[in-house]
Amino acid sequence: MTLDDKTRNASNSPGSPPSCPDCQGRGWMDNRCATPEASDLCSVCNGKGFDAGGKECYACHGTGRIEVRKIDKTVCSKCRGAGVYPVPPSMTEDQFAYRPGKR
Ligand SMILES: [Zn+2]
Ligand SMILES: [Zn+2]
Repeated sequence: MTLDDKTRNASNSPGSPPSCPDCQGRGWMDNRCATPEASDLCSVCNGKGFDAGGKECYACHGTGRIEVRKIDKTVCSKCRGAGVYPVPPSMTEDQFAYRPGKR
């Protein structure tokens, strides 16, 4: 009697959302400066030092400048840090792969 069972190991859970193609699921991308003069201007806040909500910019910590080598991560514009795309509506910010605002 031969048992022909193939063990079905569910290695990939069917409920997991696909990884974001832009950031490969990291939620952030490498921050490269486009021009030399823009290299120390914070691209997140455009040099203002604060974000739209008036909070201290997480990238430059209020200085308006950023050292590209120092902070080489920028939040993925596609998934906005979730690391998956499309972002499931049920997903909360706490589940994001990259949360620059949190400590
Ligand atoms: Zn900034
Ligand atoms: Zn992404």
